[in-house]
Amino acid sequence: MTATPAATPAAGRAAGPGSARADAASPPSEPSGNGAELARRLAAVRERIDAAARRGGRDGAEVTLVAVSKEVAAARVLDAVRAGHRDFGENRAQELTRKLGELGDGLSWHFLGRLQRNKVTDVVGAVTLLHSVDRLELGEAVARRARALGVVQRVLVQVNVGQDPAKAGVDPIAAPRLVAQLHELDGLRCEGLMTVPPADRDPQPDFAALRTIGNSLRNRFPEMVHLSMGMSGDFEAAVEEGATIVRLGQALFGPRPPARAERRT
Ligand SMILES: *Cc1c(COP(=O)(O)O)cnc(C)c1O
Repeated sequence: MTATPAATPAAGRAAGPGSARADAASPPSEPSGNGAELARRLAAVRERIDAAARRGGRDGAEVTLVAVSKEVAAARVLDAVRAGHRDFGENRAQELTRKLGELGDGLSWHFLGRLQRNKVTDVVGAVTLLHSVDRLELGEAVARRARALGVVQRVLVQVNVGQDPAKAGVDPIAAPRLVAQLHELDGLRCEGLMTVPPADRDPQPDFAALRTIGNSLRNRFPEMVHLSMGMSGDFEAAVEEGATIVRLGQALFGPRPPARAERRT
């Protein structure tokens, strides 16, 4: 696993706790050394995505790179924006709301985390794609809020392909039924599947399994085109197996503080 680059002192500092204020204080129009490094990492990751897509017989342009900016200061996100990046991912509603306020319009946000029903209001309509619907009650709450806003919320169903009891996601056996139920709801459009494989084993079979489930569902629901799979340590394998969306944090922004990295929404 060579995807996570060695931490540069600068990247470590920018991602560390308490750095947001200092970063935000630097003039936003002045490209920093940090910004150049981030631009270089974005380009390098993009090349690796393109190469993996070619190995899988696809065009890398079909793969969306979501830069996972959780725990990353807004100033660092702005560096990525200046490098031409637009898609960002967050896994906590509160942090998403804060970043939306700090960074304004014009970006595409993806929500990746466990979503409690009382936080649905903060996320629906604010994100391009909600990756983590894993139960009907959540889908119903999302659809209700979307109807109230007069929007259609695009979502993915998160599948616990590895049947890991510690992980969110619907059981793979129950996924087709959930997709069919979501399909009946106005205000929500289910466009595919997402998974986070268990960390302690080769993720490739899980990526292949998600693709198989996705393929069979697409026969019934043609709009189920997306597979959101692949993170910093395994995105090339995911792209080779057909990922249309990869979600990378540390490969772009450097390591997160370990104590907070495991925190749940
Ligand atoms: C944090 C997170 C990622 C990014 O993980 P990295 O290892 O930093 O690439 C991707 N997906 C989800 C659901 C996450 O919570």
